[in-house]
Amino acid sequence: MDPISPLEQALHAARALVLADLAASEVAAADVVSMVEDSVVQRRWWVEQWPEGAGFVAGLIAQDVQDSLLDRYGRWPLCPVCGTGDPHALEVEPDLGPDPHWVCHKAGVKVAAVGALGSATGGTPPS
Ligand SMILES: [Zn+2]
Repeated sequence: MDPISPLEQALHAARALVLADLAASEVAAADVVSMVEDSVVQRRWWVEQWPEGAGFVAGLIAQDVQDSLLDRYGRWPLCPVCGTGDPHALEVEPDLGPDPHWVCHKAGVKVAAVGALGSATGGTPPS
């Protein structure tokens, strides 16, 4: 059996990170998981064309899923930092780069690394 390629490893890791963030927000329903799978398929093609981008797939998949959720469900992930004002979504930074983070542009803060949203929100709703 061939060892798993670095590209597949990157895709597996990215998939796990985004699923962890979805689970933290309690939106890991079956159809949401399929959105992640669809994105992984598209990004596999993308990263095969451009292997140097392997480190960027987590941020890209997070953004793909965010876009898909916006169409079907609404904003995700909601900002856990700002307690007041309109609910708003976090954004991935950098758009295309390694070490992606969720940031709140309103508060101007990095909230969590992609994959670590659960620790930022603490699993408890804001009071
Ligand atoms: Zn915010």
